[in-house]
Formats: sequence, C-alpha cells, structure tokens
Amino acid sequence: MTSLPVPAFDRRNIGEWVATHLEGLYSGLAVSSPMFIGGQTAADVALGGFDVAGYAANRNEVWPADRQGASRLSPYIRHSLISLPEAWHAVGGGPARDVSKFRDELLWQEYARHLYARLGNATKRGLRATLEGGEQVDGWPREMKCIDLALGELEENGWVVNQARMWLASHWAVREGADWRVGEDRFFAHLLDGSRAANRLGWQWTVGTANGRSYGFSRRQVERRAPGLCESCHVRDSCPISEWPDDPGLPRTIPPIGLKNDGDVVATAGPEWVSSNGTPEAIWLTAESLGDRDPALAAHPELPAVFVFDAPLLRRLQLDGKRLFFMTETLADLAQRRTLEIYKGRPEEILARRAVATTFAPVPGWRRRSASIRPVEVHPWPWLRRPGAGSVASFSAWRKALPGSTGA
Ligand SMILES: Cc1cc2nc3c(=O)[nH]c(=O)nc-3n(C[C@H](O)[C@H](O)[C@H](O)COP(=O)(O)OP(=O)(O)OC[C@H]3O[C@@H](n4cnc5c(N)ncnc54)[C@H](O)[C@@H]3O)c2cc1C
Repeated sequence: MTSLPVPAFDRRNIGEWVATHLEGLYSGLAVSSPMFIGGQTAADVALGGFDVAGYAANRNEVWPADRQGASRLSPYIRHSLISLPEAWHAVGGGPARDVSKFRDELLWQEYARHLYARLGNATKRGLRATLEGGEQVDGWPREMKCIDLALGELEENGWVVNQARMWLASHWAVREGADWRVGEDRFFAHLLDGSRAANRLGWQWTVGTANGRSYGFSRRQVERRAPGLCESCHVRDSCPISEWPDDPGLPRTIPPIGLKNDGDVVATAGPEWVSSNGTPEAIWLTAESLGDRDPALAAHPELPAVFVFDAPLLRRLQLDGKRLFFMTETLADLAQRRTLEIYKGRPEEILARRAVATTFAPVPGWRRRSASIRPVEVHPWPWLRRPGAGSVASFSAWRKALPGSTGA
C-alpha cells in the first residue's frame, strides 16, 4: 500500500502528480481534456450554466462544435458530482419540449444503471442477439472526415456527442464487421464519462444486439448533422458510406438470466435507508461517487475521506491519462474543503482494518470490494427511480415496469 500526497488544485501540477504517482496505470499522456475541468466546483458551474432551451432541436447536432446543443454534463454525472435527481430538477421551468427531451435522456442513463446493476458483466454479451466480429479489424478508417472528426474528439477531448458515438459504433461493427466489444473498450479507455453501464448499452443498442435492430450509418446523417463536413473529405467523391450498410443479420440469442425479472432487488438497488452496525472513522469514496454531496460524505462532515487508486484494476484497464487527470483534479478540488487521504493499491487491503462509511454503488466491483471491506455504514444510492423487479429487456419495457417514482 502506498500513501500519496494530496494534490494541489492547480492544473499545472495535476499532470505532474499523475505522471509521478500513477505511472504505469494509464496510457497516453497525463494531460487535461481541453473541454472539462474536474471537480465539484466545475460541475456546479456547468449545471448552473446549462440552459435547456433549444436542447430538443440541437442535442444531436455534431459539427461545427458551436451547433452542438448537448449539455456536456456527462463526465460530472458519471462520477456523481451531479446526481440524476439534481440534473432532473435543475431544468424545471424550462420549455416543456426541451425539459421532456432532456429528462428522457437522464432516464436512459438510469436505465443503463439499472441494467448493469442487475446483470453486471453479463452485459458483455448480446442481450437479445449476437453480432460476431473479427477482433483484428480496425473499424475506423481515418481518411473519412466524419470518422476522423469523431475519433479525434474522442482521443483529444475524451468526449463525443451522442450522434457521433453512434456513427463510430455503427461504422466499426455494422459496416466494417469489427468486434463491438473491442470498440467498446476503445471508447471506455478514452471517455471521461466512460462507464460500463452506459457504454455497453450504447454499443449494444447501436449495433443491434440489445434489440435485434442495428442502427445504420450513412452519408445522409453526416450531411444532416454536420453540414459542409463532407466538402473537405479526401474520399468525398468515392464515399464508402454513400449507401446504407447491409443488414448484418443478428441471430437471436438466449437472454441473460434476470433480463425479464429480478430475483434479488435489494442486491441490485442497495439499501433504501442508511444501514449501520458501528461508528465510522472515515468515509470510503469510490469513483462512482466523488462529489461533495456524496450521501456518506455529506452525513459526516467531520470525518476524513479516503480514496484508493485501485492499482491492479487501473494497470489492467490502461485508461487514457486524461481520465486520471480528471479524477485527480476532482480529488484536489474536494481536498480544498475536506480532509482527504489518497492511496494506491488494493482497496480491500488498504481499508481492511478501518471502520468506514460509504455510499452503495450499483456496479459489481463495489459489491465485490465491499463484501471484503465490510463498511460499518452504507448509505443509499440516490436513484432517480428505485429499481424494481420488472423487465429491463428494453427501455420502453423498463419504463412501463418501473415502480412508483422517487426523487424526481
Ligand atoms: C456507442 C455509445 C457509447 C456511449 N457510452 C457512454 C458512456 O460510456 N457513458 C455515458 O454516460 N454515456 C454514454 N453514451 C450515451 C451518450 O452518448 C452520452 O451520455 C452523451 O453523449 C453525453 O453527453 P451529454 O452530457 O452532452 O449528453 P446529453 O445529451 O446532454 O444528455 C444529458 C445526460 O443524459 C444521459 N444520457 C444522454 N444520452 C444517453 C444515452 N443514450 N444513454 C445513457 N445516458 C444518456 C447522460 O448522463 C448525459 O450526460 C454512449 C452512447 C453511445 C451511442
């Protein structure tokens, strides 16, 4: 176990801190995304500055960047610096059509979380159909301007607008026949908002393994969502996507156990109220919940927070340096208001002998680690809708089966 110094909240030093203390645990450079500042302070500014008016009309615009109408809140939502109920309430009073569209997208995020909380790593394979692909194929030809633009944003900013994520995913797996799980890993390594929950669902939905219908990507979408882009493309006169891709054929598969019914809702959803069997002396913060308003952190303003960079996991994942920069900057921001301890190693070992309070996180990694750490106090996850036992086989089936709403 290695105890690390707490980084100062200063962009010039964060990169050096990451390079020094997290060497070997990431790929690429320890630099910031030019688009996002990490931390609760920046998250609150982003949410406060988001104007939902015009969202419905512009959310899917891709290029030029000033036409994009998406909120760009996702890295903050990913690490719970903004909870889904907070985002939901923040747009109240806006134009009805825009509010409804935005809230619908938040529900997609909630659906992805429910699906992953229930099925865990079973979401690695097709939920309802299969699409086999050649692992060695690189499905992103950079001579195409549309692919190069989206891929460049992924690699440089760690963020891509939803429409362009669909282009990349469809081109990779549906047209080029590359393995969608390899493409999903490439996204996961670069995205500041990368989560197995939303990323796997996004890929499965686009390539068609979630519902049996794939999303086809062709020049038509580029002309509509990025008008003028094709004019500067090297292959504009021999465009490889002037026609729709062939239907890949998606053989049905046996759905994972639990897709239609949850036999253990409490395991999926976590506690509904604080569960306690001792007095905590610290708060265990996880990457799922790094905000000042993390329920366990907020309940104990006098206790130190502990964050562990999970070295074996990070060494295996090799996330892009920008993601670790973003997380470190988030911790540095938090350390301006709270006592913080940072470690590198295995969370189970580092926290083995400490009485910690923590917030439930709806991911298999949290369940595994907390079974060994045994927190003395667990706070409920701030669901937008608390999971029920009904079907998660599709977004619409899930919405129909939802029990009464909470928090929204
Ligand atoms: C192939 C693919 C991979 C994706 N990978 C991820 C991922 O790893 N992490 C991630 O958070 N989202 C992922 N998405 C969903 C979506 O693209 C991003 O959430 C969105 O682009 C983030 O930008 P934004 O905050 O401006 O979103 P907005 O359009 O402004 O939406 C507001 C919020 O709603 C949620 N949201 C919006 N669309 C979706 C969606 N389709 N699914 C789930 N949540 C949604 C996000 O939390 C987002 O921040 C993926 C989509 C696709 C097609």
